[in-house]
Amino acid sequence: MTQITLALTKGRILKETLPLLEAAGIVPAEDIFSSRKLVFDTNREGLRLLILRGSDVPTYVQFGAADIGVAGKDVLLEHQGDGYYEPLDLGIASCKLMTAVPVGAPTQTGRLRVATKYINVARQYYAEQGRQADLIKLYGAMELAPILDLAHEIVDIVDTGNTLKANGLVPRDEIADISSRLIVNKAAMKTKYADIQATVDALQAAVAKR
Ligand code: AMP
Repeated sequence: MTQITLALTKGRILKETLPLLEAAGIVPAEDIFSSRKLVFDTNREGLRLLILRGSDVPTYVQFGAADIGVAGKDVLLEHQGDGYYEPLDLGIASCKLMTAVPVGAPTQTGRLRVATKYINVARQYYAEQGRQADLIKLYGAMELAPILDLAHEIVDIVDTGNTLKANGLVPRDEIADISSRLIVNKAAMKTKYADIQATVDALQAAVAKR
């Protein structure tokens, strides 16, 4: 029997992923949210789930430690790995990757300081804009950086915009449309083709039904 390992992103994306999995006939053997386990069997023999931090999902799939993964497009853009295909947009956890600045901030004409956890995406974006930007890597609470003068602007995920607003910031330019994607390890796609394709097809049907 083929073993398939599916890596999921914990948190907000997980909450939206589980109903899709269920619609595709995949149900965890126990309640993920009331457990501290990281690996879960499912109702499907040979199919197990990993619960990972989003930024680790592409790494597990790239190296074949997981066959399939669910990850935000923001994470995939930043990871810039190869070794996996991205066959399906799951259409969940939609948001935008944007620049944001303090309300009423003047346009910065000189060298720009940008705080973000998306260093690779930001580097590429400002280069395409022809802007000189010094990038400052942060791991959270990006909204604080302009307020405390650490940076002129930030690159972050915006959903409702409430977090920006609550911190005196406004969105400026859109960098990318984000949603969660299914990724598949390239080697596994060949060696476990039938099982993986069946899983992709079932999820695709579940997405189409939503
Ligand atoms: P909001 O206040 O609705 O604009 O949400 C902003 C914050 O929620 C962001 O700074 C992110 O940390 C988080 N967030 C919102 N949507 C997503 C998503 N689809 N994936 C990951 N994080 C998200």
